[in-house]
Amino acid sequence: MRANDLKKITQNTKIYLDMDGVLADFFSEYSKVAGVKNYKDIPPANVDPVLNKLVGTDFFAKLKKFATADTLVALAIKYTGSYSICSSPLRNDYANSAKWKKVWLKKNLNPQPASVEITPNKGTFAVNADGSPNILIDDRGVNIVAWRSRGGIGIKYQADEDSLDKVATELAKIFVARYPVEEPIKEGIKSKAALGALMAVLSSSPAYGDSNNAQDTNAMQKALIILRSIENMKDYSREGAEAEAQQEFNNIMRAIQGMPDQSKVYPVIKDIIKQDTI
Ligand SMILES: [Mg+2]
Repeated sequence: MRANDLKKITQNTKIYLDMDGVLADFFSEYSKVAGVKNYKDIPPANVDPVLNKLVGTDFFAKLKKFATADTLVALAIKYTGSYSICSSPLRNDYANSAKWKKVWLKKNLNPQPASVEITPNKGTFAVNADGSPNILIDDRGVNIVAWRSRGGIGIKYQADEDSLDKVATELAKIFVARYPVEEPIKEGIKSKAALGALMAVLSSSPAYGDSNNAQDTNAMQKALIILRSIENMKDYSREGAEAEAQQEFNNIMRAIQGMPDQSKVYPVIKDIIKQDTI
């Protein structure tokens, strides 16, 4: 992520999720077709013949969904209210592979994506008409590089190799930075008191409390991440989504790590959790 990205996000910014390697376990089925344990063991000379075996089949409709897929979808929705799919078709099999990919998406995703783009040229969707960047979460480095070169924001993530925390942290950074200091109220954080109290303990500076006069951007960003995670944690707890609530709790703990005086932060957080609205 480049520092410049942070300023350009608007309400039009969308989150695009790649399908294979991110939501659908392409690798294990692909390895089976190739007759190897790990797809990385396929010799380069065999890649094309193996891919050729998929042409004209319903291979993509039968892929297993990664256990993390639903949480990733929920994470995207948390930030933008919806999510979209941006997936490449199989070469030499565009129409057929697109058809079966759509079958997979319909069957496995709930809620459904706002839009589905099956395209050999993902970069087309990197930027919106207003110039704002979209975000692509994709397991292929070349896709991320192409997306960024067209002005989008790319997060490299492969479901069987990376932790979802990596995506959560990146998105938190992108969306926290989107809101300037005077904006937290619009983001659903209603009380400046909570923000001020948190910033005071996060920066160990007694002068805090006036969030419009923040000098410590780091403390402000940490405070916003923590407040948003507390809000989300409460929501998830109410819905009985314990795993998601736990993940939000982990976000909070991570935000506290490395701050100057962690022991002062805990009671403030405990206080905020007890409040009905933040
Ligand atoms: Mg992929």
